[in-house]
Amino acid sequence: MKKTDVERKILLNPGPATTTDSVKMAQIVPDICPREKEFADMMKDIQKDLVRIVHGNPEKYTSVLFCGSGTINMDICLNSLLPEGKKVLIINNGAYSQRAAEICDYYDLDYINLEFAYNQQPDLEVISNVLAKDSDIVLVYTTHNETGTGLLNPIRKIGEIAHEHHAIFIVDTTSSYAMIPIDIEKDNIDFCMASAQKGLMAMTGLSFVIGNKKIIEESANYPKRSYYCNLYLQYDFFRKTGEMHFTPPVQTVYSVRQALKEYWEEGEVGKWERHTRVFRAIQDGIDRLGFQYLINKELQSGLVAAVRYPDDNNWDFAKVHDYCYLHGFTIYPGKISGRDSFRLCALGAIDEGDIERFFEVFTEALQMLNVQTPVKYNK
Ligand SMILES: *Cc1c(COP(=O)(O)O)cnc(C)c1O
Repeated sequence: MKKTDVERKILLNPGPATTTDSVKMAQIVPDICPREKEFADMMKDIQKDLVRIVHGNPEKYTSVLFCGSGTINMDICLNSLLPEGKKVLIINNGAYSQRAAEICDYYDLDYINLEFAYNQQPDLEVISNVLAKDSDIVLVYTTHNETGTGLLNPIRKIGEIAHEHHAIFIVDTTSSYAMIPIDIEKDNIDFCMASAQKGLMAMTGLSFVIGNKKIIEESANYPKRSYYCNLYLQYDFFRKTGEMHFTPPVQTVYSVRQALKEYWEEGEVGKWERHTRVFRAIQDGIDRLGFQYLINKELQSGLVAAVRYPDDNNWDFAKVHDYCYLHGFTIYPGKISGRDSFRLCALGAIDEGDIERFFEVFTEALQMLNVQTPVKYNK
């Protein structure tokens, strides 16, 4: 297939991420019915690879694929894994765990929304105490990299506490999977999840839950709260037929196959080193211009920099965004209510040179608007 002459854009938003030309081109394939064996074989390989990325023993863990954006995984895990009369504990220090609480509201699931400050790791003792007091809690849910702020939660420790209390641990790893090395068993994870367009650097439309087979099988008789989005039903259909129950995102699946090939070529360590290099370059640029972060550096995941708006009347995020966009760089607003911020993320097929070029353009935008640099803050 010919190399694309599609213009290369640098996406610094928290996914979808910049993709390689080879991943883009992998979507251009002869038309195929996804019920063909050829397609099913490809799905099986992908299913295995997704487990392998988190070092899961294939006897014990599996991946279940869905057509949808990443939120579908959150919805599925919560609505499918809760037995009648039991409770979810959501450890919530950011926008994505808040979304999980909203999902529980929509399904009328019994849950405890255990909130912590957006700029702090959750208090493990508080979590322990809540679990000790309430034996109805059977699911503990949190987010690994809180994409709104870039705060990294201590999932291994939270998982340990969950297991001490015989609860299942579900982690939203959408914005860390295939970037930050994860070991599903050592990290005490029963279920994690992601979508193809973030860490894998493929296209949007395919999402997947990776988790413990035995627990999925135990959930066979739990209440079915959704027809389309049920973990056991999809697992069972795939197990019996090798196909997704309903139409998969065909072309996205081809992009995922190519993205996985490139993942193994770059390697877990090499890839994480590259993301880290990109993130350092982002931090260097931010520091040089005097910007401040929403959360302390030592709490940052190394993938998302949430940056405070400066106290300068000439600062105008929309204008800075538009200037950068025009020059091929996409930046993204923040997600913490009441705290004006924007985000620069280290996802995707980019490297430090791209970040250096970004800061040239970004600095031009500040100069054009007469924003004083280094930027200033009143407090
Ligand atoms: C991106 C993301 C999601 C999913 O968002 P979609 O818009 O549905 O793709 C879920 N959780 C986290 C932590 C994310 O970063």
